[in-house]
Amino acid sequence: MEIEAAKCECCGLREDCTVEYIAGVKADFGGRWLCGLCSEAVRDENPAFRVADGMRQMLRRRSSDISAPSGAS
Ligand SMILES: [Zn+2]
Repeated sequence: MEIEAAKCECCGLREDCTVEYIAGVKADFGGRWLCGLCSEAVRDENPAFRVADGMRQMLRRRSSDISAPSGAS
């Protein structure tokens, strides 16, 4: 079993994975490798070919959470 270091295209996390796993993830996301968390988030919401859009939406959602605190009246 061959192990290689892969870097998440979304959050930059580095993970040691089997070459087979890396190739499988890249096939799913158009040549990009995403870590487990990011790939699950993207898979839940977006078709694989729209990974970049999904990332943008996640970032937008995160920043709107910060700028618009809940319960503010
Ligand atoms: Zn990630």
